[in-house]
Amino acid sequence: MVMLTYLFYLSGTLVMGVGQMMATISFNPGIFEFWNSWFILGILYYPPTILVFTLAFLGKESILKNFLFWVAILTPLTLFLFFTLKIPDLIIVNDFTKAKLYPWGYQVFATGKISPLVTLWYQVCFIPSIFMLVRFYRENRDKIIKKQALLLVIAIIIPYIGGVLTQGILPQFGIRIFPVGIPLNTINIILITYALFKFGSTTIDPFAIASSIIKIMHNAVVVINSKGNIILINPFTESFLGYRKDQLIGEGIKKILPEGYSSGEGEAMTATGQKIPVNIYTAGYTDNFSGYKATILTLADIQVLKKLHQDLQAEKANVEEKVKERTFELKEEHARLSASINSLSVGFILVDQSLNIFTANGSSTKILFKDGPPHQVTFSAISGRLKNSIDLELEVKKCIKEKKIIDFKEIRFGTFFLRIILTPISLGETIIGCAILIEDITEEKVIARSKDEFLSLASHELRTPLTAIRGYASVLEQSGLLKKDPQVKNAVGVIDNSVVRLINIVNDFIDVYELEQQDMIFKKDKVDMPALITKVLKEYKALAEEKNLYLKFTGNQQTPKVLGDFNRIRQVIANLISNGIKYTNTGGIDIGIKKEDKFLRIVVSDTGTGIKPELQKFLFRKFQQAVENIYTREGVQKGIGLGLYIAKLMVEGMGGKIQLDSSNKEKGSAFSFTLPYA
Ligand code: ADP
Repeated sequence: MVMLTYLFYLSGTLVMGVGQMMATISFNPGIFEFWNSWFILGILYYPPTILVFTLAFLGKESILKNFLFWVAILTPLTLFLFFTLKIPDLIIVNDFTKAKLYPWGYQVFATGKISPLVTLWYQVCFIPSIFMLVRFYRENRDKIIKKQALLLVIAIIIPYIGGVLTQGILPQFGIRIFPVGIPLNTINIILITYALFKFGSTTIDPFAIASSIIKIMHNAVVVINSKGNIILINPFTESFLGYRKDQLIGEGIKKILPEGYSSGEGEAMTATGQKIPVNIYTAGYTDNFSGYKATILTLADIQVLKKLHQDLQAEKANVEEKVKERTFELKEEHARLSASINSLSVGFILVDQSLNIFTANGSSTKILFKDGPPHQVTFSAISGRLKNSIDLELEVKKCIKEKKIIDFKEIRFGTFFLRIILTPISLGETIIGCAILIEDITEEKVIARSKDEFLSLASHELRTPLTAIRGYASVLEQSGLLKKDPQVKNAVGVIDNSVVRLINIVNDFIDVYELEQQDMIFKKDKVDMPALITKVLKEYKALAEEKNLYLKFTGNQQTPKVLGDFNRIRQVIANLISNGIKYTNTGGIDIGIKKEDKFLRIVVSDTGTGIKPELQKFLFRKFQQAVENIYTREGVQKGIGLGLYIAKLMVEGMGGKIQLDSSNKEKGSAFSFTLPYA
């Protein structure tokens, strides 16, 4: 559009310029008058070309349209009047005789009757142009556009001032000077052409843009006239509905929208008769001049959306069904779990991180609230009940925080005994609460105690008669009465040995009972270990010699003293040495001492049978012997399997540790234990 108006402007300038130039150099009256009227026509024709160009440049399409409309209507009339009413004479007297020869050629300065009107015509066209361009220049921020606008302003102002002054206003006052119209118009042409071609057409024609948008749009755009016939479609409509343009133009809109075209969801019909769901948008259009009415319809394809919506609905229904099923399963599972938990004899309480109780089964209240459960079983009610036994709140928090199981094997609860186990409940990585298991172990405790007590009682009761038997056996042996009969002497010897063994067993039982009940009192002697070991070795010398075994002590005499009960330490060493002798057939037993950081280590090693690796873990247990079948006492050797168990409890009671250092089949074993320095 800008280019077109530029050409229009160019033609205006040319008509005026060529006319004036030719008139100036004409010397024949006929030719002069012809070119002079040509020039006068140019005077009228030129100003609107400037305005038209400016409007196009500024993108004022609608004003431009109006303007052109009136120009188109008025031009034939003007031309008619121009030639019939001899208008040239009214503007500038078109008479060769009135023309004067100046240095610059023939010139007519005699102004006609309506020449002020022509001057006004110039103002009408130039002033708005200049005004609009200046405003455009000021409002625009783009440097290039600013430059271009400025050039145009200058280009228009120069001939406007120069031309109107020298050829319009001044001649009216009788002042005749060189008509600068032609040179200034030339400058004007150069400047406008330069501005246009240097910077290009910078205005955006909204109509052109709109039509491009409609062309590339992915919605069908259909324009219908007031009768409902299609007058325009965009390219997408063709591919969308499967029609060619000529199959739709002129057709009624019902062909593609059988159910009407009101805004909202509707259905479009394709060429193959398929119905496509569409969203219809409508907009009315009325032409300003003709009043012609049309409706613009936009059809957006919502097939995919609709399908998605349907899929979504189906998926939602599916999920709802699954949730229902799962909820039912969960409820069932919950019911089963609750029933199981409630039927447990163990108290079971579930708490969350904030110590709110989820579940507390019947047994838990039965165990904790012997005189009837409280109105509401809360965590504080439970921890309050246990406050003399454990700090439940603290322990539960610890269990949750440290993510570990806490087992209170035995807790006094008034006259009862409880076992309480706290287990963290984890959901993936996070801990969501804690399960509290409470078991009333009072009965087990009583049974175990009465069993132990029975053993202790029996042992104590056995010890007195056994000691008496042993005493009398010794008396008999020493009395000389038996000398006469070696058979009787032998029998008394067997009685003595058996009684000694029995007394040892009974003593072991009593020791175990005392150690387990933690009734055994350990004295805090400062014990010189080398001296003690030497003493024990002397006691076992004879036994070792019987089996041809050596007994060797390689300890340092300068060893620091240890803290412990002299007799109990002696008992531990005696047990290890006697085991060594018992389970060794060739070689012997070595006793050594190692000084460690805070403890003294006593090592007893032998060259005996060794202990199978799989049996080693049972060594320090009660009544356990390292034999093949650990569940029965089949194949047990002399002894009852209490020695190492007692040794362990004693060493630990004195603050030390005992262990099997190494053991190899047929190569021997090494045991060691530690005791703290005195
Ligand atoms: P016991 O009264 O049977 O000797 P202990 O508790 O002293 O009971 O020993 C338990 C078991 O450990 C023994 O029966 C034996 O099988 C094994 N044992 C202990 N010491 C040794 C050792 N030095 N060599 C081989 N086996 C041993």
